[in-house]
Amino acid sequence: MLSISPIPAFSDNYIWHLQQGDEHWVVDPGEADPVIKALQGASLNGILITHHHPDHTGGIAPLVKKYQCPVLGPASIAGVTTPLTGGGVVTVLGMPLGVCNIPGHTLDHLALILREPVSGSSVQTHLFCGDTLFAAGCGRLFEGTPEQMFHSLAKLSALDATTRVYCAHEYTLDNLHFANTVEPGNTAIAQRLASCQALRDANEPTLPSTIALELATNPFLRCKVPEIMKSAARHAGHPNPSTLDQVALFALLREWKDHF
Ligand SMILES: [Zn+2]
Repeated sequence: MLSISPIPAFSDNYIWHLQQGDEHWVVDPGEADPVIKALQGASLNGILITHHHPDHTGGIAPLVKKYQCPVLGPASIAGVTTPLTGGGVVTVLGMPLGVCNIPGHTLDHLALILREPVSGSSVQTHLFCGDTLFAAGCGRLFEGTPEQMFHSLAKLSALDATTRVYCAHEYTLDNLHFANTVEPGNTAIAQRLASCQALRDANEPTLPSTIALELATNPFLRCKVPEIMKSAARHAGHPNPSTLDQVALFALLREWKDHF
């Protein structure tokens, strides 16, 4: 039975810990000590990396030194032993892990898509999306263009609606306040804000999310919604949202959020 749990790191990072039986993997270990503590004496079997930022990679060297485990991720990252490329599939915890290129936040960013066989012939999909898709938000554009990020998010939002989404930061409340400002008429956002506020008040993570929940509440996946189009254009001082294409609207939303 696969279990996936967050290991908090730094101020708001989550290192996702995958365990099946006595096999353990982690995704994006920005630091080693919280991982070593979470393993409670068990050994680490492997590390997965989504992109090169230090808060996702800083724990690689000390963890490899301690556990001599393989590191799967973008080829350009120091310490990666198995380079991953978009379109590839590797086996992790006995399950297929699909790899998808999702440039935007960084150019090397990968989505890691684990397909867990469950009862009968059905599959539960688990998406490790690093800093590309957040609960009710998306990552900043440090290296890529709005067009790249828009298409990367479109790939993720096309995954099965039941896909569980494991983001790498606890940014949900802040993102929901922005979503609520952009689309105040969306009651799903208000409901999610209340439930996530209760979770944070209890010091619980608001993750994982699901693709269905993101499609309902994430403004960056909802650029076609007329209320969002109007809000984004009005905020940018653009006279006519109907003349803007979706990438342009996405760029306006991202720009707005950068200064929110
Ligand atoms: Zn990052």
